[in-house]
Amino acid sequence: MSGRPAPPVRPEIRALRPYALGVPPTGILAKLDFNESPYDVPDEIKRRVLAALEKRRWSHYPDFGARRLKEAIARVIGRRPEEIVVGNGSGEVIQAAVSVFAGGGELLLAPPTFSLYFQIAAIAAAKPVEIPRSGEDFALDEKGFLEAVGRGGRVVPLVCSPNNPTGGTVPLDFLRKLCAASGAVLLDQAYVDFAPSADDAMPLLSSCPNLVIFRTLSKAFSAAGFRIGYAVAAPELAREIEKAILPFSVDLAAEELAAALLEEPERARRAVASITVERERVAAALRGLGAKVAASRSNFLFFAPPGGGGARVRAELLSRGILVRDMTNVVPDRLRVSIGTPEENDLFLTMLKESL
Ligand code: PMP
Repeated sequence: MSGRPAPPVRPEIRALRPYALGVPPTGILAKLDFNESPYDVPDEIKRRVLAALEKRRWSHYPDFGARRLKEAIARVIGRRPEEIVVGNGSGEVIQAAVSVFAGGGELLLAPPTFSLYFQIAAIAAAKPVEIPRSGEDFALDEKGFLEAVGRGGRVVPLVCSPNNPTGGTVPLDFLRKLCAASGAVLLDQAYVDFAPSADDAMPLLSSCPNLVIFRTLSKAFSAAGFRIGYAVAAPELAREIEKAILPFSVDLAAEELAAALLEEPERARRAVASITVERERVAAALRGLGAKVAASRSNFLFFAPPGGGGARVRAELLSRGILVRDMTNVVPDRLRVSIGTPEENDLFLTMLKESL
């Protein structure tokens, strides 16, 4: 026996299951499993971004402090650049904020919610405390959250609104109360572009100096391939979060693409309008088939096929070229389908009928 100690892997990391989705299947007709935009960045913008990139010095680091990107974001959302922290996707910014506010403490989560939060909690050495959702629309337990933060200590709520994978939002009134009762509130609004404007928590920032809102260009802005996300918070908090992100996490290419996309926010708004109309059409069609569908204000639907058998139906759909997310390990029989183009959605509904 060697006297060498075992590699000191932290127990909470050892306990994580690696994020694995298996080999990507071939012959897919509609990829509706990642809540991506079905509308790619138009060729004309791709060409403009490539031309801008060609002129940059690739041997130099990107803009230090990402001032240009922060200014572009600030202009579109009507905030100030010093309130913005950017990162390599919003996942990175959420991880930084969790580590700053909840590292060594507790992170309040409302499952079923975005599974990455559990991985982030482990990395940040925050203890996840679960306050489950309930009801047919998976409503967040507002009272449970307020009680938990009221107990004191280092307890930080992380709320997802609209929530992935269930699709619903929390009222701003609840967020206001949560902010009044907590040291800091983390709010993930990755999908808020698909929700009514009354769900956008940005107006709360003026009265809630301890609120941190996360947004991304991966969904409504069609930029998931380039990893651009951000947080918006009071400058004092933004400064602390930024300390937990390594410099230059948004690279030249992402910066150029973001600048081009943010120059024309109407393009994203048009895509969102089509996706939200389609969401209601697909939800009504699913209900018409007898499926259970949670009310959604996002670009996906959380549903159980009529008569159950979620895992079987997902496999049937896959064999017909339709890729949806299996959520049966989270809620029995549930699947999550992203809203695609009208053609992709028709294909999904047709193949679903065949699969039942
Ligand atoms: N938050 C939620 C709720 C998400 O669903 C996702 C992506 N699936 C993210 C954050 C991370 O997005 P990104 O890192 O691409 O900005």
